[in-house]
Amino acid sequence: MAQAVRTTCAYCGVGCGILATREGERGLAIAGDPEHPANAGRLCSKGTHLGETVGLEGRLLLPMIGNRQASWNKALDLVARRFRDAVANHGPESVAFYVSGQLLTEDYYVANKLMKGFIGSANIDTNSRLCMSSAVSGHLRAFGEDVVPANYADLDAADLIVLVGSNTAWCHPVLYQRMLAARAARGTKIVVIDPRRTETCAQADLHLALRPGSDVALMNGLLAHCRRQGALDEGFLRDRVSVPDDFWTSLEHDQDLWSVARACDLAPADLARFYDMFVAHPRTVTMFSQGVNQSIRGTDQVNAIINVHLASGRIGKPGAAPFSITGQPNAMGGREVGGLASTLASHMDFSPENVARVSRFWAAERIATKPGLKAVDLFRAVGEGRIKALWIMATNPAVSLPDAGRVREALAACPFVVVSDVMETTDTSVHAHVRLPAAAWGEKDGTVTNSERRVSRQRAVLPLPGQVRPDWWIVTEVARRMGWRQAFAYERPADIWREHVRLSTYQNEGARRFDLRAHAAMSDAAYDAMEPFQWDPAPFVDLCFSTPDGRARIVAVAQMELGEKLRDWPMNLNTGRYRDQWHTMTRSGISPKLARHREEPLVEMNPRDAMNLELIDGDIAEVVTPQGASMFRVAISDNQRVGDLFTPIHWTDQQSTGGRTGLLARALTDPYSGQPGFKSTPARIKRV
Ligand code: SF4
Repeated sequence: MAQAVRTTCAYCGVGCGILATREGERGLAIAGDPEHPANAGRLCSKGTHLGETVGLEGRLLLPMIGNRQASWNKALDLVARRFRDAVANHGPESVAFYVSGQLLTEDYYVANKLMKGFIGSANIDTNSRLCMSSAVSGHLRAFGEDVVPANYADLDAADLIVLVGSNTAWCHPVLYQRMLAARAARGTKIVVIDPRRTETCAQADLHLALRPGSDVALMNGLLAHCRRQGALDEGFLRDRVSVPDDFWTSLEHDQDLWSVARACDLAPADLARFYDMFVAHPRTVTMFSQGVNQSIRGTDQVNAIINVHLASGRIGKPGAAPFSITGQPNAMGGREVGGLASTLASHMDFSPENVARVSRFWAAERIATKPGLKAVDLFRAVGEGRIKALWIMATNPAVSLPDAGRVREALAACPFVVVSDVMETTDTSVHAHVRLPAAAWGEKDGTVTNSERRVSRQRAVLPLPGQVRPDWWIVTEVARRMGWRQAFAYERPADIWREHVRLSTYQNEGARRFDLRAHAAMSDAAYDAMEPFQWDPAPFVDLCFSTPDGRARIVAVAQMELGEKLRDWPMNLNTGRYRDQWHTMTRSGISPKLARHREEPLVEMNPRDAMNLELIDGDIAEVVTPQGASMFRVAISDNQRVGDLFTPIHWTDQQSTGGRTGLLARALTDPYSGQPGFKSTPARIKRV
C-alpha cells in the first residue's frame, strides 16, 4: 500500500492537516492528520471528500490560445509579449493581475514580485479582498500592523466565545468542533451575533439576531457597559493603549441599554445578558468573519470589536483575543508576501523607505511606488478600458465579484485576458484569450498559512496530468520571457520559500520579533520535511505594538446606516455559503456526496414576508436588485429576520440557470479596505 503523504486541506482558513494516500492511477484516500495542530485528525465534510474531486473530468490539460491547443512556448511567448507591449505603449498601470487565496505562498510571491518589482505597478489584487481585507485594515489601524492576535489554543482556554457574523458550524466546521469540545470539557459559553439564526446557533447559550449592519452600535454599547461596570483594564489602557481625546465622552452618547437595543433591534433583556456575560468572563475570544468584514463599514466594525478587547484588557493573554478567521486556505500567506494591491511586499507598505528596501532586495527594475487598484476598482478599470492586459489566476470573478454582470461585460471588452485555472471552462475563462493549465490541489507543492498564522506544507501526491504546470512555474516563465531571467531563476518552490523568508527577515530586522534565519537557510530536504509552525506564536512580545509609540490604538467609530431604504427595493439581500460547497463549486461541485447537502440554490425568507408576497415553500421566485435578477427556489424559515433575504454564493452558468448571487450584489465597498458589502444589497422578490 502507498505511503500516506502529509498535506493541508484545499478549502478553508482553518488549515487542517490531511493524510492523502494514493489509490490507483488518480484516486486518493483522505484522512485527518492526527499530528497537525490545527485539527488533530478532525476533518469536515469538504475535507473528507477531497478524494472525490481529484479526477480529470473537466480539467484543462493543455495551454489554449482561443479555442486551439498551443505549446507552452507559444502560449507563454504570447502572454509575455502582450504584457510587455501593453506596458510599453500604455505604461505599467495598464496591466493587472487578479489572483487568489487558493494560490500557494510561493505562487503568490512570484506573481507579486513580477507585478510590483518589475512591471512597476501594484495592480495585483486577490479574491482575499472579498474575504478579510476589512480585518487587515482594522488590524493596521489598531496594532500598526496586520497581525492576528490569537491562536486556536485560545479557543480551548476561553470561558466565553463570541461569534460575530460567522456561521462557524458550516464555514469553519473543525474550529466549531473544537469549541464544542472545549464547552464539553470546561463549560465554555458561546454567544452568536448574527442577523440569521444559523446552524451555529443550535449549541449557543445566546443568539442575538441583530439588525443587519448594527454591529458598531452593539460593540460601542458593550464598551460603554464595561466602563459603567468598572470592567475596563485601567492599567493596560494607561500603559499600552492610545485613546483619542474625548473618546469616552462621545462614547457615552445614546449608549444606555435601551437606546442600543433599539438601534440593534434586540430585546433589552437579551442585550443585557450578553453584556453581563462579557463582563463576567475576562477570558473571552471574539471570533469574527464575513458577516463583519463584508460590509461597507467593515473596517469600523472590526475596530469596534478590537476597541472592546483593548479597553477591557482581553488581548495578549490565554483565552482572550479578538480573532479574525479567514475564509480561504492561504489568505494569510497572501498577506504575508504582500499580495494585496494595498501592500508592497512582506507586510510592508509603500513608504519611501520600504520601496527603497524592497527595490534593493529584489534588484527591482521598476518598482511600484503607490498602491494599486483593489478588486472592485480593478474590474471597473477593466470595464473603462484602462486595463489592456489582465491575468486572472485560480479564481472566478465572473461569478464571485459583486455586480458580476458588469464584470462579465468588462472581461468581454478587455483586449487581452489570460486565465490560469485547473478547469477547462469557467464563467471567467470563456472570456480568456489564453488559458493556461494550472496544477490542482494534490498535484502542487508549497506552503499555506492558516488563520492562526500557522504555515503548513501542501504536498504533491499525484503526478501532473497532461501538460499541467504549477502556478509559480507559469509566472516565472512569463517573467523570464519578459526579460527578467536572473530575478526569476527559481527551479523549485523551496527556492522561492527561502527568498520570501529572507525578505521577511530583512523587513523584520529592526524589530527582531521572531528569528527566521533558520528558515531562510533551509535546505531543499528540510523544506520537504517542514512541520507545521508559527513564525510568531505570541504576536505581541511584552504587549508592545508596531505603532510608532508602541501602543495599540483605540479607534473612534460611530454607527452609521448602510444605506437608505429605497421604496422599490424594500428588502435586504444577505449572501453566504453552504456547508458542503466551496466558492464557485469548480472543485467541490464535482463531489456527488457534497452535492447532496443542497442540490439547488435557495432564497431563504421569513414567513411574514412570504405571506405578504403570496409565496409558498418551493415556489420559484425571482430576486431582483438594481444590478440584476436571478431565480431561486423559495425556502421559508423564521431563521430569517423579517425584511431579509439570504442566497448562496456558489452557483454559476456552468451549473444552473438560476442562483446567480454575484449578479445581484452591489459593488459598494468599505472606504478603508475596499472590501465589498456583500451582506446588504437593496432587493425585492416576486413569484415567477
Ligand atoms: Fe478543510 Fe476547513 Fe474543513 Fe478543515 S474545516 S477540513 S480546512 S474545509
